[in-house]
Amino acid sequence: MKYYVLFGPPGAGKGTQAKEMVEKYNLHHISTGALLRKEIAAGSELGILAKGLIEKGCLVPDEVVEGMIENEFRTVSGVEGFLLDGFPRTLPQAEALDRILAKTSEEVTATVSIMIPDEMIMERIKGRALKEGRADDASEEVINTRIVTYHNQTEPLIEYYTDKGKYNEIDGTGTIEEVRDRIFDLMDKF
Ligand code: ADP
Repeated sequence: MKYYVLFGPPGAGKGTQAKEMVEKYNLHHISTGALLRKEIAAGSELGILAKGLIEKGCLVPDEVVEGMIENEFRTVSGVEGFLLDGFPRTLPQAEALDRILAKTSEEVTATVSIMIPDEMIMERIKGRALKEGRADDASEEVINTRIVTYHNQTEPLIEYYTDKGKYNEIDGTGTIEEVRDRIFDLMDKF
């Protein structure tokens, strides 16, 4: 199995590009954000906990998302690999992912990091808010908290994966098709 980590700040276009990547490379898409929103919609205990945190722009506890990921790995088959979108988002999550994969003598294949400048994050998320109506996209204050959370908690993963020789960054500016082609050029190498 291949395990790709799709990385990048909120609004970088991970969800959009993930759709193209799973089709071309026969991968199963796991978006922790989407899984959490499903729990919220179902009104589960986990959903109620997640709702309060997500609407403030904070992360949910590491153990929660780690459990969701392991569950997906166990229950999905018939694909070439997995595309992890929005996970790992903290160093402990990255270490947990390595531990989970080590149980079956596997490891992360590569990261694909979609990079855009901070100014563009706000602009793109505000555009998405009009289309998708996500609660955490509605206020500038919450978006700012997410940008700070990204810099403090998620950005250290760049060094983590660079040290392992697994960090690959592409320019996330330009049209959806331009970014897609840059990603495909990179993915064709793995
Ligand atoms: P975006 O990348 O645009 O912020 P996501 O859909 O990936 O959107 O995530 C939405 C929210 O869900 C995050 O702000 C966070 O609160 C929560 N979340 C998603 N993935 C994780 C994760 N791996 N760890 C902790 N919280 C997460």
